Amino acid sequence: MAELSGKSIIGFQQGGGEASIFGINPATGEKLQPGYAAASGAEMDRAVDLAAESAASFGKSTGADRAAFLRKIADNIEAIIDDLAALAPQETGLPEGRIRMETGRTCGQLRLFATVAEEGSWVDARIDHADPDRAPVPKPDTRSMERPLGPVAVFCASNFPIAFSVAGGDTAAALAAGCPVIVKAHHSHPGTAELVGQAVIAAVKDCGLPEGTFSLLYGPGREIGQALVQHPSIKAAGFTGSRAGGQALMKLAADRPEPIPFYAEMSSINPVFILPEALAKRGEALATGLHGSLTLGVGQFCTNPGLTIAANDASLEPFVSKLAELVGGSPGATMLNPGISDAYDSGANTLGGNNTVDIVAQGESGEGQCQARAALFRTTADAFLADESLGAELFGPSTLVVTHDGTDKMLALARSLEGQLTSTVHGTDADLEANRELLDVLETRAGRVLINGFPTGVEVCHSMVHGGPFPATSDGRSTSVGTNAIHRFTRAVCYQSFPDTLLPAELQEANPLGIRRMVDGVTS
Ligand code: NAP
Repeated sequence: MAELSGKSIIGFQQGGGEASIFGINPATGEKLQPGYAAASGAEMDRAVDLAAESAASFGKSTGADRAAFLRKIADNIEAIIDDLAALAPQETGLPEGRIRMETGRTCGQLRLFATVAEEGSWVDARIDHADPDRAPVPKPDTRSMERPLGPVAVFCASNFPIAFSVAGGDTAAALAAGCPVIVKAHHSHPGTAELVGQAVIAAVKDCGLPEGTFSLLYGPGREIGQALVQHPSIKAAGFTGSRAGGQALMKLAADRPEPIPFYAEMSSINPVFILPEALAKRGEALATGLHGSLTLGVGQFCTNPGLTIAANDASLEPFVSKLAELVGGSPGATMLNPGISDAYDSGANTLGGNNTVDIVAQGESGEGQCQARAALFRTTADAFLADESLGAELFGPSTLVVTHDGTDKMLALARSLEGQLTSTVHGTDADLEANRELLDVLETRAGRVLINGFPTGVEVCHSMVHGGPFPATSDGRSTSVGTNAIHRFTRAVCYQSFPDTLLPAELQEANPLGIRRMVDGVTS
């Protein structure tokens, strides 16, 4: 195992300070070593200053250079997969197999962004040639493309210690765009963060990139995280976590003298609508699939199906009985950290204690600490519509079945929903044809609408949208998964009447990079 320093990474230097942040093995309560020192304000300033100094040259690096850098990071992370597979399960309670899979996904994600940076067409180059003879006024030569915003702050997610943390989706997107990144580590997997941080900084050095291209800071969100978002040289931030934390940071980002884009992924209950014919024909298979999805990763996926909506007809009871049997037989499992475990227990108690909600089944209790019991709750559409607390995210392995008495009530339920990352519909061809309006409503509520699938398991690809209206995210126009995330960290710049030699290569007349461009309205 690579040696862990217990310190922040400030460019090519190590931070100082005394250990105050310790990983905790959630299953045993054991305090893990080494402890981590919180970055001081001066260290945070140094990291941001270095990032600001490196922004111009890193922003002007070629797509090929950034592709080589992203691939080097992926290679370096792959080289420490055994270390990650040994340490991350201790810090997070996640099984080794999941950590290996997540590491593979992270490297695949970095390499996918490398292909995008290298190919180059993502910059959306547009060229309008001059027309000096146009009357009444001549038309100037104008050319535009996406350019990097500058230093980006990335908050690690607790529930994806690799794929959404130090070298995760936001970091890959920002680096691919040409933005230096400063990561704020999550307190619940500090050692995993350092291992990946070392892999990234080694890649910065190997690729001869400027010192400020990457830093990793430890420290409390309320201090170091807030100061980072408020630092004048930070130009955008990405976050995955709680609604309260996300909203606090969103407000700070918007209230700055120079407001910045703040991309928070926060809260989603991912409704699953089961239409009548599908329930009648394949209720048992649906119960099995839903159970697999809601217990996957101990329910700690942002796409966990926390809400299941079905008509209260003859097919309902066999479906609910099967789901209850499966939930009741689910073994207890370790959650990520004591905070998340406590939040699940108290949320489940509050939901189960609501006098309109029945606790249909509870899973087994596990051995050790931070154990989650899977849970199946049930209520009616009228109760759900009357009490907005029933629509709050319960982060863990549970779902609330809401029963209704027909299409109008089902549509009222759909319309009542807050913004979601995903919405799912199960139906036969006839069901779907008869319920087009439901699909139309769900499209207005979610970033991704699925038919006859389950929402957990997000494909990393070019067309993925892992976003959605508030409170799923702070900005439903964006995605945190997939290559479109690169546009989080760029803005279009128009170059008017520039001599060819002063233009970026992407916009030069001869198209030396051979990228796809729109020239006088025609894309080729
Ligand atoms: P969190 O408490 O929001 O923490 C995420 C990050 O934000 C951490 O680095 C944290 O710093 C920082 N932070 C939190 N509140 C802040 C504030 N007011 N100002 C500045 N920084 C702040 O999220 P979590 O620890 O991952 O999980 C807590 C809950 O979030 C879960 O129980 C679940 O409900 C929800 N969650 C949702 C999703 C999703 O995708 N929907 C994913 C994960 C978690 P520290 O390191 O100091 O804590």
